[in-house]
Amino acid sequence: MLDQRDLQKCIHCGLCLQACPTYVSTGQEVESPRGRIYLMRQAVEGRIQWAQARVHIDACMGCLGCQTACPSGVPYATLIEGARAAVEQRARTPFQRFVRQQAIARFTNPTQLRLMLRMAGALGIRRTPRWMARLLGAGESVVRLPHLPQQAWRPTQSVYPARTAQPRARVGLLLGCAMQVLFGRVHRATVGMLTLAGYEVHIPRAQGCCGALWVHNGYPQQARRNAQRLLKAFREVDYIAVNAAGCGSTMKEYGLLFRETPLHAAAEQFAQRVRDVHELLADAELPDPPREDSLTITYHDACHLVHGQGIREQPRALLRRLPNLKLVEMDGAEMCCGSAGIYNLLQPRLARDALQRKVRAIQQTGATIVASANPGCTLWIQQGLQEAGAPVEVLHPMEILAKAYDAMP
Ligand code: SF4
Ligand code: SF4
Repeated sequence: MLDQRDLQKCIHCGLCLQACPTYVSTGQEVESPRGRIYLMRQAVEGRIQWAQARVHIDACMGCLGCQTACPSGVPYATLIEGARAAVEQRARTPFQRFVRQQAIARFTNPTQLRLMLRMAGALGIRRTPRWMARLLGAGESVVRLPHLPQQAWRPTQSVYPARTAQPRARVGLLLGCAMQVLFGRVHRATVGMLTLAGYEVHIPRAQGCCGALWVHNGYPQQARRNAQRLLKAFREVDYIAVNAAGCGSTMKEYGLLFRETPLHAAAEQFAQRVRDVHELLADAELPDPPREDSLTITYHDACHLVHGQGIREQPRALLRRLPNLKLVEMDGAEMCCGSAGIYNLLQPRLARDALQRKVRAIQQTGATIVASANPGCTLWIQQGLQEAGAPVEVLHPMEILAKAYDAMP
């Protein structure tokens, strides 16, 4: 629900404009945060239909760069989620809603996602099919399908003991959907680093999706259904460790997701225990790393880590602990790469534009590795670098750290 008081916080100063990737690409006021807030206000006050605002609400990446830039405290995350829900309900046909829900449901179900990617691999399909892009209203298909890893990592234990006699705390690791299908190696590295830092890591079986894609695309009810499973699964641990920016930022907002429902207090309590893995490691003591590989790295700030959770320094500080590692900052490290959940499927032109800016910035650093802590960014940046012929690897900070510390379980 959009709150008039939140909308009225915008004082139209325009300080957010240059932080907005869609404004930078188009130069149009209606594709800026200020323009979108104005449209939302008009729709809420009944001066325009949501159908008139839809195209501009759809074009928003939900990156929250504007929220960080705003001096007036406009809660843009809440506004865009409310606007998206209103657009889904009032400005799409039942068929359009059905198609979008089917797409999200398939992507967030690990078994179905794995099966789809396996079938696509067997049939030699390299990109999301054109019919799918058309059904989703995208016009063209630009997203390459990722390869399934040859060896998927599945946890062999439900608890990984800390490497110290007295664990610092019990943490439950979120496996997620795309993360467990495509980035088992990141989970493995995360378990290695957390146990090295003295945490006892629990991996509850009955987990599932955190609901981020649902909530970011205007379906809070479906997001709540997913979230309820997590509330149960992580009852017994002190913290919930998350290594995917979009999931962590959504889970820290479960209190808002469940407001005015009987589960509000439980959701708030859960949200307070959610920690990004970099936060957990930054708070812990780590030994000196045994390996001293020379690396030149640049760090991409995933939007939902930097703007959604305010985590900017911790990953950089952890990487800087590695001797012989040179961290070179890229221009616009905090600017969205255009992946933005399934945005690159839905809005190919603007997503590509953002990707090209990101790839250029990475190439200018001379780095051979980009650190990225969100699966969508990793895949999209990897695609952009490969298309540009740039020999740069994209790795999660946990992978870089676990290798340097010899910490893989
Ligand atoms: S969320 Fe990102 S794309 Fe959307 S208005 Fe804000 S800065 Fe622009
Ligand atoms: S910076 Fe904040 S107050 Fe200023 S125009 Fe942007 S959203 Fe509105």
